[in-house]
Amino acid sequence: MATSAVNNSNSTSVNDPTTGTRLLLDPTVCRGHGVCAELLAEHISLDEWGYPIIADRPVPPDLLRDARRAVTDCPALALRLEGR
Ligand code: SF4
Repeated sequence: MATSAVNNSNSTSVNDPTTGTRLLLDPTVCRGHGVCAELLAEHISLDEWGYPIIADRPVPPDLLRDARRAVTDCPALALRLEGR
């Protein structure tokens, strides 16, 4: 008796190295303090005017703690984490 295997290629791997959590910026309230880039330099850079450029990818698990700190320490409350 033959058995059939189901190829579920749409499933998410448990070994997915990303958290799926994204760091989002509200540019309407950001004041360009730059604190966030100091706390999370691996994920945030500053443009020529000192405003943040957030990496267009999920926050890696090892940076989540620093990302949470950037959110809470932003004087303008311009950052938030969204996702899993
Ligand atoms: S710390 Fe907050 S206000 Fe300052 S640049 Fe970063 S997001 Fe903008």
